[in-house]
Amino acid sequence: MAPPKIIIIGSGLSGLSLSLFLTRLLPTASIKIYEVRPSTHPSTSGTINLTPNALRVLDHLGIYKSLIPEGFNFDNLTLLNHQFDFLASIPIAGVSEFEYQSLRIERRIVHSALLRKVLEHQSPIEIIYDSKCERVEESDTTVTVTFTNGVSDTADILIACDGIHSTVRKSFVKDPKDFDPRYTGQMSIGGVITKSQIQEYNVNNNPYPLMMFGPESSTGGNFMIWPYDRSGDQFTFFTTLPKPDEEKDWKKYTEDKTVLKKIMQETFCSDGSPWNEMVRKTVELSETEGYRFWPFYLHSIPEKFYSEKARVIMIGDAAHAMPPSGGQGAAMAFEDSETLAYSLAVAFNNAGLSNGSNLNINTPQGQNILSKWSDHRIQRMKAVQEMNKRMSDMRKGSSGSTSGVMFTVKVWAIWLLGLLGVLGRTRRVINNYDAKKEAAAWLGEEAIARYSLE
Ligand SMILES: Cc1cc2nc3c(=O)[nH]c(=O)nc-3n(C[C@H](O)[C@H](O)[C@H](O)COP(=O)(O)OP(=O)(O)OC[C@H]3O[C@@H](n4cnc5c(N)ncnc54)[C@H](O)[C@@H]3O)c2cc1C
Repeated sequence: MAPPKIIIIGSGLSGLSLSLFLTRLLPTASIKIYEVRPSTHPSTSGTINLTPNALRVLDHLGIYKSLIPEGFNFDNLTLLNHQFDFLASIPIAGVSEFEYQSLRIERRIVHSALLRKVLEHQSPIEIIYDSKCERVEESDTTVTVTFTNGVSDTADILIACDGIHSTVRKSFVKDPKDFDPRYTGQMSIGGVITKSQIQEYNVNNNPYPLMMFGPESSTGGNFMIWPYDRSGDQFTFFTTLPKPDEEKDWKKYTEDKTVLKKIMQETFCSDGSPWNEMVRKTVELSETEGYRFWPFYLHSIPEKFYSEKARVIMIGDAAHAMPPSGGQGAAMAFEDSETLAYSLAVAFNNAGLSNGSNLNINTPQGQNILSKWSDHRIQRMKAVQEMNKRMSDMRKGSSGSTSGVMFTVKVWAIWLLGLLGVLGRTRRVINNYDAKKEAAAWLGEEAIARYSLE
């Protein structure tokens, strides 16, 4: 009997982490990852924040410790108002309570660490670059993917890790148009600066990262300043701004970075701007070339994360992209990978894979496991999205209102929430997630105890 074949579309954070879990939990499987990017540019740039739930997954893969010295590790977020008055210090993470600190790090470093593990692992994981998935078709017994270069491949199962604009998602939802990504009308704009350039304006020496809230959307509702490297000297700064669809002149933003800097200057540094000197100086002193923008998209979440015949499964942004305001997209992708890998290992081994048979997930028992996994992940997503929404509302400047009274109410609410530790408690729900323990709920303690990632 041929070894079981698994195809993964996309070698982003979800595709690589999933392949590593699968190769340990289903060691006989052959795993091929197809990626549209060239091997010379395997990752996107920018920085991300990884909370304890994300880091726990990376720890299970043996990657976390190598990342600690590569980024900025912290426990609390300092909340200030636009005048630089202290509002609250919010516990985001911490070894004593959550086992891990939070880590701000360049995305490409996390990606390379995963990639190195894939390459060093003497496992049958193969990455095929320059391959753009065009369509996917499943039968009762196999799934076939066709690429734009005319090549096709067939496997027992295929997992969509191809991000928010997923082609695979379109191939198996009933009405693909309903699941097209929609621009939310908000975008993040930001750049980079060094601590030495702006530290003198941090008058009370507030601990970083700083999250500041302003009175009105039109004059900037929020401004973040976040270290992201091991020395704590390299900072990223950004704001989330409403930018209606009609203003979709984004080609200009890419071609000429002065346009982005100008938007930031008009928003934060104009005459009469209510913003503090640290924010103004950060914008003024920053290099124009360092500016970037990220429009926020959303798509409808399908009822389940697998196809009718259970041969196509989706995870990460392909299944449930969310705006980055809550900093949980990658964390969700990692949680998906680990929980799915355990679910597939148990489903396949129960179905007799250990006796050498092909992967067959299209059985009542296989479907039952996938359905429980999918329901669990959708529930988790909803809880995290709720928190995300609260974070974006806070960043909107007076929760979207321009009234001074509303702004005062918001500032008090933030202060009170910080005092009562409510924001911290929300974090506990997010941070304490442990994929293996969670998966035991639908796979059974005994079944899951057989598996080790060593
Ligand atoms: C500005 C911004 C800030 C963020 N900040 C955070 C943060 O602080 N914390 C956090 O946890 N998350 C954050 N996120 C979210 C996080 O980046 C994503 O959730 C995460 O990268 C999703 O990983 P993925 O592998 O599912 O998708 P992706 O990273 O999008 O990877 C998809 C891969 O599939 C490939 N691909 C696409 N289409 C095809 C095709 N047709 N054929 C073959 N290959 C294809 C792509 O090239 C890519 O390599 C942020 C996102 C943004 C935009």
